Amino acid sequence: MALIVQKFGGTSVGSIERIQQVADKVKKFREGGDDIVVVVSAMSGETNRLIELAKQITDGDPVPRELDVMVSTGEQVTIALLAMALIRRGVPAVSYTGNQVRILTDNAHTKARILQIDDQRIRTDLKAGKVVVVAGFQGVDEEGNITTLGRGGSDTTGVALAAALKADECQIYTDVDGVYTTDPRVVAKAQRLDKITFEEMLEMASLGSKVLQIRSVEFAGKYNVPLRVLHSFQEGPGTLITLDEEESMEQPIISGIAFNRDEAKLTIRGVPDIPGVAFKILGPISAANIEVDMIVQNVAHDNTTDFTFTVHRNDYNGAKTVLENTARELGAREVIGDINIAKVSIVGVGMRSHAGVASRMFEALAKETINIQMISTSEIKVSVVIEEKYLELAVRALHTAFELDAPARQAE
Ligand code: ADP
Ligand code: ASP
Ligand code: MG
Repeated sequence: MALIVQKFGGTSVGSIERIQQVADKVKKFREGGDDIVVVVSAMSGETNRLIELAKQITDGDPVPRELDVMVSTGEQVTIALLAMALIRRGVPAVSYTGNQVRILTDNAHTKARILQIDDQRIRTDLKAGKVVVVAGFQGVDEEGNITTLGRGGSDTTGVALAAALKADECQIYTDVDGVYTTDPRVVAKAQRLDKITFEEMLEMASLGSKVLQIRSVEFAGKYNVPLRVLHSFQEGPGTLITLDEEESMEQPIISGIAFNRDEAKLTIRGVPDIPGVAFKILGPISAANIEVDMIVQNVAHDNTTDFTFTVHRNDYNGAKTVLENTARELGAREVIGDINIAKVSIVGVGMRSHAGVASRMFEALAKETINIQMISTSEIKVSVVIEEKYLELAVRALHTAFELDAPARQAE
């Protein structure tokens, strides 16, 4: 008998019919003899709807504590619905909010981190033969305030519960049948991966593949939680996220391609090329709590230089205001910004043992006459910033160049 944590995402609980289907599925597992803890998201679209309401009443600037009180209601609805559906099927079940389980988090509203989980209540219910249904995405801080874990946070609830309960597996059920070489909604020739390492999955997630929330992968890696991504309503092996990095001959150089449209680029032109300038530019940005991703400083001309960096699009206006102040102080020529950019990244542990991976990437983009604006590399990834309108073309070209296209469709 195994203990399994099963997480169902928003589309999988997006309607009463779907919740009935989830209940049928959980019942089947339970009848197979396994102990089951289920984590659910809010019905698809619900979190967005709630955030929108909060924005409407505050001119777009909701108080984080109150926002958490509100958005956490989405998951409170689905846990109760699923528990009811299970009970009607003769499966003893009980639902809990994050507060009731006591998923203790820090107090960083809207992006809280899980600190500790009190598994006592869940263990008692499991012993009594119940399926325990826990609300994803939410927790409670030390003072009893409701917190949420950031978008996609139900994945993290699932993995954290699996870690706390030492579950045999954490199964993330979603609307695709596993982790693909790239988003299958963008590239029809994307292929499902049987396995991907934690390290690669972490890069994929942090570079934009939202199939798993980054923190859930961090957690799974840290506590070595066996993690699998599966389709909610289709049978199949899904994708196992694993620790081992098999050194087989067939290991692909690139495992996947990630992309995101969430960044914006800012350039300060004509700053004096003297020591300390990078700090003068980025110090105030960091003091404003704005995270910087990629950074490029050009070669100097006439003792002045241009300095470019990217931030999250939500921080674009804030960062631009800060940078304009800095530009005045430094006597820089101008500040220019661009929100129509996208970042495309190739990811793979196989890259470590292969030279020339970046140039192969640049060649593929050059063939499509896609201009590269910024580049950043690490041991297992290469990222480029390009104009947003070329994003899909770039991803498809790279998918083909790195021989990731599904064989059956290559002839098309
Ligand atoms: P859920 O609501 O179940 O949490 P998400 O929408 O958060 O589902 O995540 C699933 C989606 O992730 C898929 O529908 C797919 O479009 C997207 N996705 C992005 N990159 C990948 C990838 N490499 N493999 C699989 N799915 C991906
Ligand atoms: N409902 C939350 C969201 O939409 C959490 C989740 O679905 O994982 O982000
Ligand atoms: Mg998700």
